[in-house]
Amino acid sequence: MVANNSKYSSTRYHDSSLREFFGFEDVVLKGLAADGGLFHPHDIPNVRSQYLQWKDLSFPDLAYQVMRLYIDEYEISDAELKDIVHRSYSTFRHPDTVPLVPLDDQKGLYLLELFHGPTFAFKDVALQFLGNLFEFFLVRKNKNLQTGEARHHLTVIGATSGDTGSAAIYGLRGKKDVSIFIMFPDGKVSPVQEAQMTTVLDPNVHCLAVQGTFDDCQDYVKALFADPETNKIHHLAAVNSINWARILAQITYYFSAYFQLLKTKPDLKQAKFVVPTGNFGDILAGYYAKRMGLPIAKLIIATNENDILHRFWQTGSYSKKPKPPQEPHEGIKEDGAQAHEAGVKETYSPAMDILVSSNFERLLWHLSLEHELETNPHVKMESSVRVAGQKIDGWFQELKSTGSFTVDPQILDKAREIFDTYRVSNAETLEAIRDCYRGDVISKKEYVLDPHSAIGVAASLREIKASGQCDVPTVSLATAHPAKFAGAVDLALQEEKGFDFNSVLPEQFVGLDDKERKVLKVSSSEGLPGIRQIITREVDKEKEARQNGSS
Ligand SMILES: *Cc1c(COP(=O)(O)O)cnc(C)c1O
Repeated sequence: MVANNSKYSSTRYHDSSLREFFGFEDVVLKGLAADGGLFHPHDIPNVRSQYLQWKDLSFPDLAYQVMRLYIDEYEISDAELKDIVHRSYSTFRHPDTVPLVPLDDQKGLYLLELFHGPTFAFKDVALQFLGNLFEFFLVRKNKNLQTGEARHHLTVIGATSGDTGSAAIYGLRGKKDVSIFIMFPDGKVSPVQEAQMTTVLDPNVHCLAVQGTFDDCQDYVKALFADPETNKIHHLAAVNSINWARILAQITYYFSAYFQLLKTKPDLKQAKFVVPTGNFGDILAGYYAKRMGLPIAKLIIATNENDILHRFWQTGSYSKKPKPPQEPHEGIKEDGAQAHEAGVKETYSPAMDILVSSNFERLLWHLSLEHELETNPHVKMESSVRVAGQKIDGWFQELKSTGSFTVDPQILDKAREIFDTYRVSNAETLEAIRDCYRGDVISKKEYVLDPHSAIGVAASLREIKASGQCDVPTVSLATAHPAKFAGAVDLALQEEKGFDFNSVLPEQFVGLDDKERKVLKVSSSEGLPGIRQIITREVDKEKEARQNGSS
């Protein structure tokens, strides 16, 4: 299949002007649309009649097939795309890149290990690719420089509650003409994650430990992107999970998991996927895989106690805060008081500690468009697109001003047809780690789950129980290696006879604590102006050093 003319546009629609279309390079380098919306593909390719031909491909070759459908050849040639993809996955340690591990044959439960990349988290799948993509675009721009013209330079900024930061840093370290600034909430990422980020000493890598929460960091990133001063000086790019290239890269492993299942189950018809979810990037890739034609029976969102998505699927309201109890009485006073408190809860699964899920907007866009097309089948596509975009715009304005919005019941129904949700508490997370290790709830013994993956497995087990005898296998996504979250794993397993944390510690983590670190602290009083200054100062320093080095 030849790539259709891959066009992208924004999920939002403000006025009556014509819809703007963007190419892949634009979408990747911009990250976020100027109107505040997210880029989405104009058409989702349908591979229903051809995907089985891909079943024996290696992971990089499969990634190439999937991505080719979303990137026009005039933007990146076949040979170039193959090269980028192969280099991106050559850094993975496992021959299958994302191996599928059976946890319980009888229950039909499998674990898709997505953590064999350089930073031991699933985000490497996307960020190894994105780093190479950025470099590819810049090298190409700088090849055609006129004499005297300044080199193109990209300043990547991102916020992280842990994994994005280290995965982005490892994706971009040492890349030419790219600087990366990663903000993380000071003291709120796991020690291993902090060490992974701050021990990278490449001159183009800058870690900012920000006083505040992850959402504060994310707000700074958004403010910098909207800031004319910053945009005058720097060409900013985003690595957060709103970047379309990340979603695109993640689509591959849904296909890969299905093909791995097919090897042991030749008459496989369908599979379910359970995804520990935060910003909705990982599971959104599953939605695209399903829309492309992969037979996914259900996509299951597993949240921690930051459960905005779980509450949405129950009520149709997307709301930062749970509703306060209507008639407070003595018995529930304390819970009620807690529910009133806005903000993110800190849990054992910090990479899922979010107040809102950025990528959810993309799903809503697709569902709203579908709804419009069904309700008004006779109007032009373009006007349905407009109505859907205006709706999204309205909802997200409302979220900003009131903290919540509610969708049409038909759109909620659509969301429920495709997705289910489970909320897994902190206590249940530790229980899942322990029960799985003991082999009490799965037949595999002594498997050590990280707390995020444990949330997925806990949700999987509930789903299997709820759906009863069922021949549709369940694939639970494992998003991090347990050694990254030593605290929670130790807490869950310290009483277990024979358990020794060092036995799960990869050699790459040994001695990490003693390595030299590079990190800049930002207090809340310095805020945005402080961050803006740091970025300009550090980029200037880098450019100077490069000039001195090359002259
Ligand atoms: C980022 C992350 C998640 C959540 O993924 P989203 O795409 O944000 O939903 C889950 N687990 C781990 C370990 C992560 O790093």
